[in-house]
Amino acid sequence: MLRCAEIPGILLIGAGHALHALAAFVHSVVDQDLRLQRPDHVVHVHTSGTTGKALHLWISKECWEREYAFRQLHRSWGGIDIGDRIATIAGHPVVPMDRTSPPFWRENWAENQLIFSSQHITPENLKYYAEKLNQFQPELLHGYPSSLYLIALYLNSEGIYTIKPKVVFTHSESLLYYQRELLENVFSCKVYNWYGNTEMVANIVECEAGNLHVKLEHSIIEIIRSDGQPARPGEIGELICTGFGNYATPLIRYRVGDTVIPSDSVCPCGRSGPLIEKIIQCPPAMWFQTFMGNINLDVSLHDLDDGLVFFGSS
Ligand SMILES: [Zn+2]
Repeated sequence: MLRCAEIPGILLIGAGHALHALAAFVHSVVDQDLRLQRPDHVVHVHTSGTTGKALHLWISKECWEREYAFRQLHRSWGGIDIGDRIATIAGHPVVPMDRTSPPFWRENWAENQLIFSSQHITPENLKYYAEKLNQFQPELLHGYPSSLYLIALYLNSEGIYTIKPKVVFTHSESLLYYQRELLENVFSCKVYNWYGNTEMVANIVECEAGNLHVKLEHSIIEIIRSDGQPARPGEIGELICTGFGNYATPLIRYRVGDTVIPSDSVCPCGRSGPLIEKIIQCPPAMWFQTFMGNINLDVSLHDLDDGLVFFGSS
């Protein structure tokens, strides 16, 4: 099978001929159609569809494995090893919505993980979250900034500072400065921000120095202003993403709906590659961008359900 790394010019981010090379690559992949030939190697997922219809797509198992490798690489920057205790609070529907008494979590012993419900965080239930986290003592605490912040507010108000993870990772929402400040104070460790998405077409990760690195080996990220031109450092632009990992539903120049501000700084951590000054995450915009313009997802879902998303001029 042709691999992305074999495509000439793939590292010329945003260059037209690189994207056209990708288009040819995608067509070659379509012929092999993972969904038909290897149905046990694809997983059906969908996005939240907060502001529109949920996006349904197929993701290959190899893509999942690749994504988890990228996540583990980032976690290792914070000193996390495979097998460390993990507490996750990130919107997973792990218990019935009408549950009024604990547990508000489920065990995933394969990954030494407790998965907490974000939906059951209420003033009445927060003491149970605190007790369980105190008992479990996660080495990695990660999830939505808003969920973690509510728990940290409770812990701070009760004077509970005995939960000591090595590190806190946040994702899926913009991390606000006061959330980071409280989390770092209550849990006595650094907070790392991480940007990814269900579609697995972008990977932006915070390093020890507090800067956001674009992982070039994960995907192509273009940052496009509202006038269609590439954003310069300090300018806000939309993320247009092309993932390298998913052969089941390749997404080319996928408009995620989030915006970022690129930076021309050089990080003192020594890692190379572009930096992002700020990530501004929004609810899914449910749009795609073609080479020629925009297509509303409402008219594109049929194409998505067919297993391939590609809008282009080549
Ligand atoms: Zn860095």
